[in-house]
Amino acid sequence: MTKRLSAALVALFVIGTAAHFAFTDEGQWTPDQIGRLNLDRAGLRIPVRQIFNPGGPGIHEATLRLGGGTGEFVSPDGLIMTNHHVAFGAVARIATAERDYITDGYLARTRAEEIRARGYTARMVQLYEDITARVLGDMRPGMSYEERREAIRSATSVILDEARAEHPDLEISVSSLSYGNTFKLIGFKTIRDIRIVYVPPFAVGNFGADTDNWMFPRHTGDFSFLRAYVAPDGSPASYSEKNVPYRPRSWLKVASRPPQEGDFVFLLGFPGTTMRYRDSHYVAYERQSRLPYEIMIRGERIDVMRRVSEGDRSLQIRFAETVKGLANVHKNYQGKVTGIDRMQLVARKQEEEAAWVRWYSSRPGLRERYEGILESLEEIYAGMLEDDPFNRAVRELLYSPVQTFAADLYEYLLQMELPEENRGVDYRGEEAEKKRDGLLEGPESSHLPVDRELYLRASIRALGLPEVQKIATLQLIVEGQELQGYAPALSRAVSDAYATSPLLSPDGRESLLDLSADEATRRGGLFMQIAADVHDRRQEMGARQEVRSRALQRLRQLYAEGIMALGEEGEEMLYPDANRSLRFSYGYVKGYEPKDAVYIQPLTHLKGVMEKETGEGEFIVPDILKQSWLDRAFGRWADSSGDVPVNLLTNCDTTGGSSGSPVMNARGELIGINFDRVWEATANDYSFDPDFGRNISVHMHYILFICETFGAVNVLAEMGF
Ligand code: ASP
Repeated sequence: MTKRLSAALVALFVIGTAAHFAFTDEGQWTPDQIGRLNLDRAGLRIPVRQIFNPGGPGIHEATLRLGGGTGEFVSPDGLIMTNHHVAFGAVARIATAERDYITDGYLARTRAEEIRARGYTARMVQLYEDITARVLGDMRPGMSYEERREAIRSATSVILDEARAEHPDLEISVSSLSYGNTFKLIGFKTIRDIRIVYVPPFAVGNFGADTDNWMFPRHTGDFSFLRAYVAPDGSPASYSEKNVPYRPRSWLKVASRPPQEGDFVFLLGFPGTTMRYRDSHYVAYERQSRLPYEIMIRGERIDVMRRVSEGDRSLQIRFAETVKGLANVHKNYQGKVTGIDRMQLVARKQEEEAAWVRWYSSRPGLRERYEGILESLEEIYAGMLEDDPFNRAVRELLYSPVQTFAADLYEYLLQMELPEENRGVDYRGEEAEKKRDGLLEGPESSHLPVDRELYLRASIRALGLPEVQKIATLQLIVEGQELQGYAPALSRAVSDAYATSPLLSPDGRESLLDLSADEATRRGGLFMQIAADVHDRRQEMGARQEVRSRALQRLRQLYAEGIMALGEEGEEMLYPDANRSLRFSYGYVKGYEPKDAVYIQPLTHLKGVMEKETGEGEFIVPDILKQSWLDRAFGRWADSSGDVPVNLLTNCDTTGGSSGSPVMNARGELIGINFDRVWEATANDYSFDPDFGRNISVHMHYILFICETFGAVNVLAEMGF
């Protein structure tokens, strides 16, 4: 939506005229929309073709879909810049208590020292085409959703075949946007050998950690450098010592002048998910049910992992990635709850919907198409609310790999009791043997004491399920006991189960594999009993949820189509919800007012790092950095204030997945790297609030200053400094 959806609706209904195009900072635009944004008037000083140039070089091609976020080429030798938190998984995987690269960071001084970043790929867009007209060309009015889906499937498969024949070197896919209302053909070149070049110390890359996460003023050096490698002939290849650095057609250059308040900026990236085209019932469901629950469960997992690993560095390293991910979402969701309330979003969406209903009701032909959609959505969420307690209880129990294993084993045994032709496809012939071999191997737990503690808490909570959803095995354990007796009885049962379960020993597993499901349940202890207990109801609820998911897809497609039809009538160009495809966003260097009489300036400096220093935990400042501060050894990196700028606030429209996006000035030069949003902006995933929509970036000067201070001069040199 060029403007907030609500603004567009108000313009159409209250003012009674078509809303006209206006500058706004909201929008995660698809590459083919960039040219229609009037960016020169907004402040852009380069031709749009330098940003997006289909089939040719351009900033879009220097922007990479990388790990869970975004990265960018910053040298002709395939040097990639991204966030510390985006590269973190790769670092956590190679760190040990002895070689603690998490704490110390890692610097490869030569190419030979660059370490493989396992599990990482970098993908660049080399083909991008809107194919909506072709895909929807054969649609006939009155088609059912299933017919529509089938027509889309057959149209896209022809387009895919053609594109694959034409571009055998690219990974081709069709990206469905706006809930199946627009379609893009996308071709990625995928680089599969990625290596770690420079990761700053944790105290820089994660300075402020959870306390500062989603906050501003911020002082985090959330950046890392990686490198892309390819086969000697230049083609993408898996890791090999023979591989050579990739030489990209496009890479980004650092701005010669630091940004100032009010400057025009833009970024490209791969934002993950937004829900701005969703209805009021969805937002109400999120606010009342899903978000509070997810906050609770994540908080519990973080607590338990932290407590169990206290004082044990190797365990902390083992849990580091998981805890960091949990804590990130935990705080984000709290911000979302607050933001939904602040915006009174449910009520606002209801008003928008009422306006939309009035609109379609007055247009011939549209009433039949859209009538009843909102009521059906309401019904679906009501059904989900009813099933949620049981589904969540089971999901929590299954968080234990031992319980998941028990569920798999139980299903396997049930299937084996059937004649082969009646079994599921995964349980016939060779597939069944593979399953059996897998079951012999047993559950893979990251740490049994953590699993046990979480399992116990899940079991206690499950006792509170509504009568019809109760889990019999758990009820039996506490039968006849006073409320306060629940925990000791369950605690004993759970401890026993973890200490004696046959599922946790190779012989025990083998002894169960040829039994009937009933017999294995009798002999298998608590985990097997629970697996048997919940099996049928899980399937029943799973099937119900499947029906809902299909209905949701259909309704969301229609709802988005209806909103887009309204937008079109008002000559509004609408951007689709984020779906991890390439997007463009622009804005300005801009502060904000989080509360009455408080104005937050958009730039932070090294001074602030020192102010926050406590010398322990989340706010340690490495000695070298302290010394540079004391000596005012800022090299070339101070700005006009005389201090080194650290972080930067702009009002670009970003979300999870935009992490690592290159932030550029009006000339397309790199001024920073996006890594976060302010807390008040997390609810923007549901609706963009321009007063609070601020993304946070690491200032390029801080990145270069840290490289210089910590001796990563090879990285600096490669970037031309
Ligand atoms: N910090 C975020 C992330 O983890 C970026 C954001 O959501 O703004 O992806």
